[in-house]
Amino acid sequence: MAIARQGAPDAFHLLTKPTGAVCNLDCSYCFFLSKEMLYPGSRFRMADELLEAYIEQLIEAHSQVPEVQIAWQGGEPTLMGLDFFRRSVELAEAHLRPGQRAAYTIQTNGTLLDPEWAAFFRRYNFFIGVSLDGPEEFHNHYRRSVDGENGFRRTMHWTRGVDAALFRPRDVRLFGDGPVFLYVGRVAVEKNIETFLRLDLPGKKVVVGGGPMLAALRARYPRAIFTGKKLGEELAECYASADVFVFPTIQDGFGMVLAQAAASGLPVLTTPHSAGADLVHEGRTGWILPARDPSAFAERLAWCAANREGLCAVVEHAYSRFRPRSWDDVAADFTALCERTLAVAS
Ligand code: SF4
Repeated sequence: MAIARQGAPDAFHLLTKPTGAVCNLDCSYCFFLSKEMLYPGSRFRMADELLEAYIEQLIEAHSQVPEVQIAWQGGEPTLMGLDFFRRSVELAEAHLRPGQRAAYTIQTNGTLLDPEWAAFFRRYNFFIGVSLDGPEEFHNHYRRSVDGENGFRRTMHWTRGVDAALFRPRDVRLFGDGPVFLYVGRVAVEKNIETFLRLDLPGKKVVVGGGPMLAALRARYPRAIFTGKKLGEELAECYASADVFVFPTIQDGFGMVLAQAAASGLPVLTTPHSAGADLVHEGRTGWILPARDPSAFAERLAWCAANREGLCAVVEHAYSRFRPRSWDDVAADFTALCERTLAVAS
């Protein structure tokens, strides 16, 4: 049955909790575990018929856009078992329209993952959020397992990957000759994009992305190029057409665009409010600058514009020595780790 679309957005992000509030951890701050009490007698397992109806309607509601986000959260969603997620992908692939794709995401505490899960996530390119809790003393105090054991030593530091086959240097100049200064990401106030757009720089400023500030910034900065949201090959060509990546955010999580820019061979200018501090090698692959210091951005970008040779050296160094890890690298490390762990356990 077709869904009435009057006034409905073309796309939206819906987090679905297939196990409701049920979790195999018992974190002291969890606001959600107590929700179990709201549904006495519930099995807290999404039924197969409901799963099918949900996936079908979610895809139907996205009939106007090329991508549907299918996102799972908990409680702990992996308690549903791997077959549930296999079925969800099978249903999605059956209902997607020609040319449409699904972006799968899952938020998990990671405790049940093993090589089989890893292979499945890799195959369908799942975006995975694993929730951890900072240093050992905090983690062990707040993030308790149901049996009361401390869990920090069961967790570890892990890095994200980047699609290295897609994001790479290319012989393309979509925006003409340089210098081309590029921002990619949501066009929203917390990204502090105006610090960049206000600067008096030679060359071109390009903003790739959509968001609530897009119309206002377009009107205020008519000389900048605003492409709107780009994905896949189009996005990769935008990166490859630039000379410097500028990400002046004042509030961010990881900042996946930083890894994509680095994989595309761009030097990165960013702030301490993202994973920049982990990804950027100061002075060798880019620079970390205070978010609220426009003069620091102006000075560094002017240097980039005036020192094309020096900039080339940064690009070459960044690309040859500090290429971000590909998803294949990350998946291979994860699988190897699981195999080592299983070998020790057996
Ligand atoms: S892992 Fe998440 S859902 Fe589970 S108890 Fe902790 S905070 Fe709650």
